[in-house]
Amino acid sequence: MLEVMSKHSRSFEKRGVFLASDTALDFLNTEWPTASGKEDFFETDEDVFTWLRQAGLAPEGVTSVRPSGALLRAAQALRTVIRSLVESRKEGKVPDFSDLNAFLIAAQSHPQLLWTKSKTIALETVRSADTAEQLLAPVALKAAELFSTADFRRVRRCDDPTCVHWFNDLTRPGRRRWCSMATCGNRLKVKSYRRRLKQL
Ligand SMILES: [Zn+2]
Repeated sequence: MLEVMSKHSRSFEKRGVFLASDTALDFLNTEWPTASGKEDFFETDEDVFTWLRQAGLAPEGVTSVRPSGALLRAAQALRTVIRSLVESRKEGKVPDFSDLNAFLIAAQSHPQLLWTKSKTIALETVRSADTAEQLLAPVALKAAELFSTADFRRVRRCDDPTCVHWFNDLTRPGRRRWCSMATCGNRLKVKSYRRRLKQL
């Protein structure tokens, strides 16, 4: 996983991979197998906050949730739920959404009138963010939107057999094959080029 210097602090901040064209699938892509087992972007509560922030789903002003470790556990549990639903949907099954619905119950929000910085009035939605489940509710909602609106023929894994990234193919022709042209697409191109050279 790439790590870059954060603009706003002198510390290094982990960078999530956002290439799925869908936030719920990006959430699945936070875990990937390696030769020695599994890598997980989520190792601490702070990693989950970092990912939520980078995905644009973190509420302003909230930087921790109690008890310690609850956010990490809940994020990993939600990811397992979404993964099993995506895989089951891909296999043409009729998945039971009750585990995902349990996360959606936590999605509590209400409308509120606010004065903006430029002194105009805005009607905004305020979300509760007191518990791990409430913090993750926007991710659960993204997954619910995926299941209710996506064409699952276009929800696919990267064509590179060594890659596990999921993506939603939003291209018009629907022929997206790789999670990223810059990495997997390019690697496969080089491989097939070498194969062609050998056949000459
Ligand atoms: Zn890939």
